[in-house]
Amino acid sequence: MTTHTTRMLIIGSGPAGLSAAIYGARAGLKPIVVQGLQPGGQLTITTDVENYPGFRDVVQGPWLMEEMQAQAEHVGTRMMWDTITSVDLKSWPFRAIGDGGDIYEGETLVIATGAQAKWLGVPGEQELSGKGVSACATCDGFFYRGKKVVVIGGGNTAVEEALYMTNHSDDVTLIHRRDSLRCEKILEDRLMANPKIKVLWNKAVDHFVGGDTGLTGVSLRDTVSGEASVEPTQGAFVAIGHAPSTELFKDQLEADATGYLIVEPGTPKTAIPGVFACGDVMDHVYRQAVTAAGTGCMAALDAERFLAAREHRQARD
Ligand code: NDP
Repeated sequence: MTTHTTRMLIIGSGPAGLSAAIYGARAGLKPIVVQGLQPGGQLTITTDVENYPGFRDVVQGPWLMEEMQAQAEHVGTRMMWDTITSVDLKSWPFRAIGDGGDIYEGETLVIATGAQAKWLGVPGEQELSGKGVSACATCDGFFYRGKKVVVIGGGNTAVEEALYMTNHSDDVTLIHRRDSLRCEKILEDRLMANPKIKVLWNKAVDHFVGGDTGLTGVSLRDTVSGEASVEPTQGAFVAIGHAPSTELFKDQLEADATGYLIVEPGTPKTAIPGVFACGDVMDHVYRQAVTAAGTGCMAALDAERFLAAREHRQARD
């Protein structure tokens, strides 16, 4: 059991956490990043990234995160292969405990724990998870090569996953509970133009059908007529959005009704001076890698100012 101390403790290693680390390290704060269960965050389970500025050609999500981590380390960040299981924000320096018992103490804390895929919560989903039901086409799509698959949802993620699955299958069905998508127009155009994809509109998933041998279909209900039907499939990808990872901070920081951490508008400042939140854990509106990186940068700049003001006060008193 070791105690690690730093001027800037960062929990989470997606674009928000690593951008905070790059700025914090360059400001001489010797940041520690505790990587968490999914080092690199959500971009590590995606493939093509076409909208992160700076790259003329398509880049791969995992590659982009490796580069970001290498950049953070190059300027002096310490990366810790650990997952935080509890935090104490009541005393200063702030304290966090890793799952192996290591203690992390930070004079400032940057929360960049991101968000995780949501599940439908219908019967059969949990039981058939890993046996045909998945929340990540780019992770598991390969296993469904040549099979009929469905993707559930109507946002960017669902449409991207449906398009991605056409690399593996000629029979992809997008199932959406309404009659219009909420994804970007460019993605909708690609979806509609792809002959391997059909869309089932106004259909909600009632339950997943299958047994020991795996998924055999999804039971649907028409959201307009109420009519029931079954769509046979061996693979179903749930792509209905994300929920912020804020369990660690329950009772210590304020969150909104959907669980996102509340910050002072236009800043990454939480109600506790010295504790900052950036990226998807506090942003339910934009949720992009580039906006996460931007708020990570803001958190580092504010952390630096917090420390400078504190030192100024100490010198004066
Ligand atoms: P969104 O919240 O944008 O979309 C979720 C979709 O799932 C909606 O169509 C919603 O339906 C549907 N849905 C939600 N709950 C249920 C339910 N219980 N049953 C059935 N359907 C449900 O999430 P995304 O993950 O698609 O996107 C999140 C954010 O990340 C967005 O800001 C998006 O732009 C961004 N993103 C950007 C990408 C890119 O730029 N390349 C790639 C992926 C994501 P309804 O429409 O009826 O509400």
